[in-house]
Amino acid sequence: MTLRPPIGILGGTFDPIHIGHLRPAIEAREALRLAEVRLVPNHIPPHRASPYCSSEQRLAMVALAAAENPGFVVDERELDRDRPSYTIDTLIALHAELPDTPVCFLMGMDSLLGLPSWHRWQELLDHAHLVVSTRPGWQPDYPAEVADLLARHQTQDSEDLHRHRHGHIWLAGNLPVELSATRLRALLASGRDPRYLLPAPVADYIRLHGLYRPTRGQ
Ligand code: ATP
Repeated sequence: MTLRPPIGILGGTFDPIHIGHLRPAIEAREALRLAEVRLVPNHIPPHRASPYCSSEQRLAMVALAAAENPGFVVDERELDRDRPSYTIDTLIALHAELPDTPVCFLMGMDSLLGLPSWHRWQELLDHAHLVVSTRPGWQPDYPAEVADLLARHQTQDSEDLHRHRHGHIWLAGNLPVELSATRLRALLASGRDPRYLLPAPVADYIRLHGLYRPTRGQ
């Protein structure tokens, strides 16, 4: 079967979405010639302290970011569920929906290092490739289980992600971006200007809705 070009999936809390999410995704799209990048905001149980914004607000910000990035779309499936969503469930669903399309799950190095704590993590590669972006502060100092996974699945040839629907890990040599949403929230809470750390329409939305203000008890 001739496969279609791969797509990228980037899941996250996106509280808020920022250039540490977007730059690696843009670079992965270019390097791997991804047909599209789907941004998938996670469902977070209401009783958890974080995120600071509601699902609707996180979704609105992700939609604003997608709107100014060609090839980026929003996938709301995890927000539509009324329980925490596991990545494995989303990847199984996509794998079934897209029978002739490789799916590349994009993640930062921090996520790869913590992968063994994910629900059914050993099955992720049965449904997708993993594309891992460098992230400052997170060295490729792998726990044994991750080292073993890499020994079995890592490829240096990005064309493998076009030739197969799943099963490969590719370490992206992206420009490192030293930013987290935690740091950005702290910056916003102290009243500083977030310009160039996130898309301008997202910064406008945050200002308009008074999000991440210290008065909200953060
Ligand atoms: P928080 O600080 O609230 O924990 P975060 O900035 O780490 O948030 P998430 O929404 O938790 O963002 O991250 C979603 C995905 O984006 C994860 O796979 C994470 O590794 C990746 N990511 C986030 N920031 C960066 C960054 N600066 N560089 C590379 N990958 C990143």
